[in-house]
Amino acid sequence: MSIQVTAAPGAAPAVRFAAAELRRYLARMLPAGDAVFALVCEAGAPDAAPDAWRVETTPAGGTLTGNRPRAVLLGVYDYLHALGCRFLAPGAANERVPAIGADALGRRYEKTAAFRHRGVCIEGADSRENLLDFIDWLPKIGFNSFFLQFRTPWAFLDRWYRHANNAALAPEPFTAADAERVMAEAEAELARRGLLLHKVGHGWTGQVLGYPALDWTPVPKEKQHKAHPFAALRGGERALYLDIPADTNLCYADPAAIDRFARLVVDYARRHPTADYLHIWLADEYNNLCECDACRTERLADQYVRLLNEIDRRLTAEALPTRLVFLLYQELLWPPVRERLRNEDRFVLMFAPISRTFDHSYRWGEAPPDLPPFVRNAVRLPAGLGKNLAFLRAWQAQFAGDGFVYDYPLGRAHYGDFGYLHIARVIHGDIARLRELGLNGYLSCQELRAALPNALPNYLMARALLEPGGAAQVPAVTGEYLAAAYGDGWAAVERLLAELSDCQVCDWLNGQGPRADAGIAARLRRAQALCRRFEPKAAARLQKTGADPLADRFWEKLAFHLAYVQRLAGAMALLAEGRTAEADAAWRAFCGWLCAQEADWQPDVDVYRVLEVTQKYTGFCPKPAKEEP
Ligand SMILES: [Zn+2]
Repeated sequence: MSIQVTAAPGAAPAVRFAAAELRRYLARMLPAGDAVFALVCEAGAPDAAPDAWRVETTPAGGTLTGNRPRAVLLGVYDYLHALGCRFLAPGAANERVPAIGADALGRRYEKTAAFRHRGVCIEGADSRENLLDFIDWLPKIGFNSFFLQFRTPWAFLDRWYRHANNAALAPEPFTAADAERVMAEAEAELARRGLLLHKVGHGWTGQVLGYPALDWTPVPKEKQHKAHPFAALRGGERALYLDIPADTNLCYADPAAIDRFARLVVDYARRHPTADYLHIWLADEYNNLCECDACRTERLADQYVRLLNEIDRRLTAEALPTRLVFLLYQELLWPPVRERLRNEDRFVLMFAPISRTFDHSYRWGEAPPDLPPFVRNAVRLPAGLGKNLAFLRAWQAQFAGDGFVYDYPLGRAHYGDFGYLHIARVIHGDIARLRELGLNGYLSCQELRAALPNALPNYLMARALLEPGGAAQVPAVTGEYLAAAYGDGWAAVERLLAELSDCQVCDWLNGQGPRADAGIAARLRRAQALCRRFEPKAAARLQKTGADPLADRFWEKLAFHLAYVQRLAGAMALLAEGRTAEADAAWRAFCGWLCAQEADWQPDVDVYRVLEVTQKYTGFCPKPAKEEP
């Protein structure tokens, strides 16, 4: 087969990359014949216009047109999806690329992405390959954005290379300079695809205090500065909060602190013109605000908005177009009383309901409840969804600009859904309500290695953000995904996953509710039994490998998942039954078992994060209690 794909001379890198990708996949898919394709990038789409493309092809080829370079690439992958390609998880090994006849090439359709912001934010413990594979996967399933947190993503890479939480793997050397190199590679790959780059967020306050603040590691007392004049005044002193610069607030009434903060941001924007969106966040812990006389007179959000306006003024003076993302989170959920953002086009609102629950999707109650009072250093974060959404409404009453949600279903809660169908449904339901919430997209703050038993939640998330399809979209996309992943026998897998999802304990795993809970225990025992019962079926399928290597891999992973669930759900059930000592022992045995397996399933499950979440939030104890004398 001779496949020719042309793009205009001097076309943008993403268009050239799209041409190479279309050629590469079609060459694998088509047996014989000739086809000629032209990729066209229309100029002039305003920033606010969502990604859009048009496909006009016949069996002899044709034209794919996008409204910006990235849209041409998204259009190519969408066309390949229409031809039967399935990009099931990050990595080339997780793609199903069918053989087709030239007759199948003819398509005529147009598509406009439903939302402007569609992306993922790095969390967890990640290797260079995890990061690059995920970036490669983003446009294949319809995402257009990626967020590298901090000034460099050192924290996440370092966790992997030193194998934090996994004593079974020997630490590998990894330096801050290595992280800079990997970041440069990641940004080059994002640029090659024309994807939107979000940066920083965490770490600004720590940097103002004179620390690198590239993660949340405490600074030993002997390595701390003698004085912290810009730090929040608490208990009569200005010091690091819990010894962690990134978690320490500043005295936002101090003009010198504000000047230093604004200078750092403008300097970063100047030196990183590839960052489309710079996130301006304060400390990552709450109830540690400054108690000086000046700070006490106003809400944190008033001080925050004054800082943001100052940064905007300086960026405008330097003609820097970088957009600034401001965060509704912790104390900043309470909107400002006096101050308002002056240059709305500069800013994007990001609503981060980190304390929400995951039993249901977003929904309003009859009327949004009144906001609780803002009490400096004694706020309680809203737990219910309705309460979280009431804060969003209060902010939206005074800011009419662009905005999106930043949410965490694949950050912690997903470990409590062993079937992944419940969390996928919650994600889908949330996205279906974004318009009603007045938000133009979704960034998922999540583990990049979130594919156990499979990566359906991310796959459905991307699809729903591209083209919301109502309630029928969930079973349709689930069926499409599972059939491509598991081949024959996928329907039995779907039944198992549905039953496992009926046993979900997302909120309980996240630390909500009492630990001893008979209902939760019963669900977990049932999940264990379901996995035990399915084992012979998985074993029988694995007797017949070879004909479909991709499905073989998904079945092998499912068999691993059955073992994983039986151990983890078993430990959790003991905890919910109130048998704490036995629970801790079972959990420690599970950790040892899982750590020994990580090398085999590295791209699929983030062992660092499973252990961290089940310890910190679910409440398992990592060390046996001292023997009683
Ligand atoms: Zn102060």
